[in-house]
Amino acid sequence: MAKQKPPKVEHRCEARVPEPDGWGRSRSCPNRGKFERNGKWYCGIHDPVRKAEKEKQRDLEYNAESKRRGWNIGRQDRFKTAMKNALSLLENEKRIDARLALARALETD
Ligand SMILES: [Zn+2]
Repeated sequence: MAKQKPPKVEHRCEARVPEPDGWGRSRSCPNRGKFERNGKWYCGIHDPVRKAEKEKQRDLEYNAESKRRGWNIGRQDRFKTAMKNALSLLENEKRIDARLALARALETD
C-alpha cells in the first residue's frame, strides 16, 4: 500500500493522551478535531459530550450488573469515589497518586 499522507488538518483534538510508557507523561491527541465544544476541538474519542453519554450508559450497565451479582453497595461507593479521584489525578498527570488511591480503595475490605 502507498504511504498514507496525513489528511489536511484544520483542527486538532485538544485532549492530552498518556504516553504508553507508563511514566505518566502525556502528549497531544494526534486525532483531528471533529466536534467543537466551547471553542475547543475534540476527536470522536475525546469529545466530552460523547464521553459523558458513554459514561452514563456504562454507569447504568454497571448498576444493573452489580444488582444482579449482589455486590456490596458500600464497597462500590468507596470504589467509585476512589476511581473518580484517580481519574482526576490522571488528568493532572499524577499517575502514581492515582495508583495509590485505587490501591487503598481495594485494600479496605
Ligand atoms: Zn482526541
